[in-house]
Amino acid sequence: MSAQKVVMVTGGTGLVGKGIEAYIQQQGDARKDEQWVYLRSADGDLRSLEQTQAIFRKYKPTHVIHLAARVGGLFSNMKYKVEFFRENIAINDNILACCHEFKVVKCVSCLSTCIFPDKTTYPIDETMVHNGPPHFSNEGYAYAKRMIDVLSRAYNAQHGCKFTTVIPTNIYGPHDNYHLADSHVIPGLIHKTYNAMKDNTDLVIYGTGKPLRQFVYSLDLAKLFVWVLDKYEELDPIILSVDEADEVSIADVAHTIAEAMNFQGKIVFDTSKADGQFKKTASNKKLRSLYPDLTFTPMKEAVKVSAQWFIDNYATARK
Ligand code: NAP
Ligand code: GDP
Repeated sequence: MSAQKVVMVTGGTGLVGKGIEAYIQQQGDARKDEQWVYLRSADGDLRSLEQTQAIFRKYKPTHVIHLAARVGGLFSNMKYKVEFFRENIAINDNILACCHEFKVVKCVSCLSTCIFPDKTTYPIDETMVHNGPPHFSNEGYAYAKRMIDVLSRAYNAQHGCKFTTVIPTNIYGPHDNYHLADSHVIPGLIHKTYNAMKDNTDLVIYGTGKPLRQFVYSLDLAKLFVWVLDKYEELDPIILSVDEADEVSIADVAHTIAEAMNFQGKIVFDTSKADGQFKKTASNKKLRSLYPDLTFTPMKEAVKVSAQWFIDNYATARK
């Protein structure tokens, strides 16, 4: 009998980690021979090599989905460039070093479409990650994330390790970080809409509302992460995204959230605030070629679930 498969998910308490946990629970008996471990920062600080080694010694993972990161939206990235760079470099270096040291069979790490070059042709594809500087607003995060791809390929070239990476677009869903200043746009605007309804005020959208984004629902992404772990054999990154046609403006997003939460007040734009990169349109051609029957939850439906989750969990949600 072969040894048990132990899948360790770093960042298991976060938006994506919770999505993967829910998806694996839904699978029930289909994955009953596997052990899934969802790490939280209380299990150990992954910025510390000693603490990371202790975690690997304790759980003996055969497979790792590496999600843990310092994560934030545009405004947090602009404010804390040093922390975004240093913390993510340290976490990623420790995780890949331990995956090598403890002979992990496969590690799937997470990049983002926001690490691509600012000046580029569209749509962006997997071959373009390193083709030029990222947008200045998030260069700390972007360069740290790009190095996961470099280091994963280096471990493969030198030691034969099976370390690969995925590139999701902007993600949202239950268990998101709804912090008003540091979050991504969807959870931030859900929280702002909640406050505007409570205080009977306008809903203030930062920037012009014109930038374009592709959004992926955390539960849809979870299924794709597990598919990558099970079936994706390449070392090169793969973009996990909705179609190019599903790209929406920030103003569209604000209206979708307002409708989902039945906000009847006024939506206004604070153009003194940054827009960030205008667009990051990514191609999911590679994903569709390998996973032809791919479907995504309609955004209206998924935004409604995410907003309701925030309302239902207001007392304990990250905010
Ligand atoms: P998240 O909700 O902010 O969760 C971050 C997770 O990382 C939490 O479980 C947190 O643990 C853990 N963590 C952070 N610092 C840690 C440390 N020093 N030691 C141990 N654990 C630590 O993030 P997410 O949105 O799920 O993001 C998951 C991955 O997707 C990240 O790699 C991110 O870069 C990538 N991504 C995110 C987006 C997006 O829109 N959210 C888009 C593209 C890519 P605690 O909760 O216990 O503190
Ligand atoms: P990005 O997709 O990586 O740029 O990060 P975000 O999820 O933070 O989205 C940023 C875009 O949403 C920018 O165009 C912002 O101007 C716009 N935006 C509008 N209101 C907000 C808000 O309340 N929070 C955030 N994070 N972004 C907002």
